[in-house]
Amino acid sequence: MTQRLCLVHYHEIGLKGKNRATFENQLVTNLHRALKPFDVANISRISGYIVVEAADHRATDAMAAAIRQVPGVARVSLAYKCGLDEDEYKAAAVQALSEAGDFSTFKVHARRSSTTYPVHTLEMNQLVGSVLCEAFPQKKVDVHNPDVTVVVHVVQGSTYVYAASAPGVGGLPVGTAGKVVTLLSSGFDSPVATWMVGRRGATCIPVHFSGRPQTSDTSEWLCQDIVDALAPSGVVGRLYVVPFGDRQREISLAVPQSLRILMYRRVMFQVAERIAQLEGAKAIVTGESLGQVASQTLENITAVNEAVTMPVLRPLIGSDKQEIIRRSQQIGTYEISSQTAPDCCTLFMPRRPETHARMRDIHEAWESFDHEAMVADLVEHMEYRDYSQCPSYHAPKGRLRAHHSELAPIEPELSDVERPEGE
Ligand code: ATP
Ligand code: MG
Repeated sequence: MTQRLCLVHYHEIGLKGKNRATFENQLVTNLHRALKPFDVANISRISGYIVVEAADHRATDAMAAAIRQVPGVARVSLAYKCGLDEDEYKAAAVQALSEAGDFSTFKVHARRSSTTYPVHTLEMNQLVGSVLCEAFPQKKVDVHNPDVTVVVHVVQGSTYVYAASAPGVGGLPVGTAGKVVTLLSSGFDSPVATWMVGRRGATCIPVHFSGRPQTSDTSEWLCQDIVDALAPSGVVGRLYVVPFGDRQREISLAVPQSLRILMYRRVMFQVAERIAQLEGAKAIVTGESLGQVASQTLENITAVNEAVTMPVLRPLIGSDKQEIIRRSQQIGTYEISSQTAPDCCTLFMPRRPETHARMRDIHEAWESFDHEAMVADLVEHMEYRDYSQCPSYHAPKGRLRAHHSELAPIEPELSDVERPEGE
């Protein structure tokens, strides 16, 4: 019987030598989770592909679209799986080409991964090609630069036939690069930065600082919407929200106006570092891009970086706003980020923020308030929400109150805990 299934192609994983099986297994696990809304019967590996089979043997475009969002997927083809019978795979080739959309030229590319199959690939090309020429008399064969290639691949006693392929997001399976804490605002940049490190295999734990109780909690809801939009790709394990408004007020009263933002950001980085230690994450990620706003000059980046010892990754540092906006449209966060909400960044803003801070002034301002107590207090009062679409995320054990579906306060003992085991 001919089945319609999804063939998942992955380039980069193939390059990983000894680690290949680990990468492939993680991708299979991630696909299982991403495809939960669908009735999937089996996901298996064959000869350089991952095969996703639907319970009713009829994989759909919607299934393929969900697979394309999963990091590590280079391409997805809706393919027909038949036996080794010539008539069966010829019929499948006609069907596959009829679903290939608009095209003028095509070619057939036969492959054999089973050497026991007696028909040579050149002969298979001719057999299938002549059937397709008959079925599509207006279309032309072009072996050099065809609009569509019909692949007929004999693997382990079956033949896989496909014509249409669509690109996936590429990258590496989430869970193969460790955990990172990402600083998430509801703006355009940081959701894109989060997605980008997720696409490189990192399990992301965003943390959002809201202006609550000095502002409304709108930015928190926008951040939850952003994470909801990113969640189907499996990149986010948990979102932390830190109400920062009262502490910002304290800072704004204690330090020179022009240095407020830098002080807020140093506190934010230290809280992020504490969360990273708690979670066993190995880096902090921001959505900064060089020179975009006052806090993103080299001097100010240095002044904030100094507050933490962990590496700070800035995947957008060389990106233009237009590129970032295009990406946010692709990943589904653009509409959410277009809504404005007051967050901690809009609160107690100086009229003239420092753009080239001197370290001496920074240190003096930093010592003028009890930043250690402030960081400990913020960590004690943060809230969180877990996202089940990320199979590589493992919460720090026994340290947080049982999960609630709404953002829930975390136990006060949290600040005393050490790193989770084995991370
Ligand atoms: P974005 O578009 O991500 O909001 P931005 O262009 O507004 O960035 P900044 O406000 O300087 O730039 O913020 C730089 C980075 O600091 C952000 O990309 C994000 O990683 C982090 N950040 C800013 N505000 C917050 C916040 N309220 N909570 C958590 N992280 C934040
Ligand atoms: Mg912003």
